[in-house]
Amino acid sequence: MSNSKGRFGVHGGQYIPETLMNAVIELEEAYNHYKDDPVFNKELTDLYNEYAGRPSCLYYAKKMTRDLGGAKIYLKREDLNHTGSHKINNVLGQALLAKKMGKTRLIAETGAGQHGVATATAAALLGMECVVFMGEEDTKRQALNVYRMRLLGSQVIPVKTGTATLKDAVSEAMREWTSRINDTHYCLGSVMGPHPFPTIVRDFQAVISREIKHQIMEKEARLPDVVMACVGGGSNAIGTFYHFIEDKNVKLIGCEAAGRGIDTFETAATISTGRLGIFHGMKSYFCQDKYGQIAPVYSISAGLDYPGIGPEHAWLHDTGRAEYVPVTDEEAVNAFEYLSRTEGIIPAIESAHAIAHAMKIAPAYDKDKIIVITISGRGDKDCAAIARYRGEDIYE
Ligand SMILES: *Cc1c(COP(=O)(O)O)cnc(C)c1O
Repeated sequence: MSNSKGRFGVHGGQYIPETLMNAVIELEEAYNHYKDDPVFNKELTDLYNEYAGRPSCLYYAKKMTRDLGGAKIYLKREDLNHTGSHKINNVLGQALLAKKMGKTRLIAETGAGQHGVATATAAALLGMECVVFMGEEDTKRQALNVYRMRLLGSQVIPVKTGTATLKDAVSEAMREWTSRINDTHYCLGSVMGPHPFPTIVRDFQAVISREIKHQIMEKEARLPDVVMACVGGGSNAIGTFYHFIEDKNVKLIGCEAAGRGIDTFETAATISTGRLGIFHGMKSYFCQDKYGQIAPVYSISAGLDYPGIGPEHAWLHDTGRAEYVPVTDEEAVNAFEYLSRTEGIIPAIESAHAIAHAMKIAPAYDKDKIIVITISGRGDKDCAAIARYRGEDIYE
């Protein structure tokens, strides 16, 4: 387990400028106070259940199970949440915490726009000001999400530095937080960044495995053999793993975006190709060039397109408790089409990475084994890009 300094083995920590120290200490103290506060937890549970649509279904994918001919497959349907992904679990928790801390303004980074839209949604609901930093490249690729955030009352600031993508948006949001900590909370979108973010985000996403455990006991009266999820920064995956970490017979599998392959430079598979480093306030594995600079990463999936991985995953990898596997664009696109056809569920292209690996391993398992796959989001947002990948041009 992590210790109180936010370490996961050698990973994690707080590699931040002096100017941010007060902000993270204030956040840690507030979180330690509210995480066990019954009123806070009641309010958050009400938001989950009444607003976000929790608990999400644990769906037995009968046709997929029969078709693959091996383990019994269940899908944890985070795609059915309000705003269409697991991101809302974390955002509602952090926004409520910020409000309790007396903050009136949320800032956030976003890549594809999913976390930005979720944060803008929570800000609208809780009556807070909201500013979202987004790489300029991403604002062009995701114009619809930029419109959504503005519609929800948020300001979107295009970030022009570096490669003008997600990592630059994170850097800019951290800079902004440093200059304005009095009224502002930085609502970070994944299990990354300096302590206490990896712990806070994990705890809010752990609702996923808490529900899976309860639901699978109800349906099967036993624990699953495998739980798996896609990994960008790793928030939906750690949420899926968390309450199973102590259950040593449950195999944990994280699926990383290999892009065009881990033997190419166009990849975002951090565990397969990265090295130990320090970036965005944490020690973990990062994709780096030969000089140790953060390497440009690529995946068809904008949500997995981050050059690092959360420190708790780095540690679960080091200890061998979880396994991390690379999945290519091609495999993910095939799985995207397969799940749509087979179960009538269009998964996010991120989630399709986990489906793709399940398609590889499920046939080798006996029929009495159980695999649970988290569908982190819905795939409507990806249809135009997948059509383009298949050489078809459709209007978004
Ligand atoms: C953001 C996102 C991801 C990747 O983020 P994690 O922190 O790794 O979960 C995966 N799936 C969807 C649908 C997303 O929106």
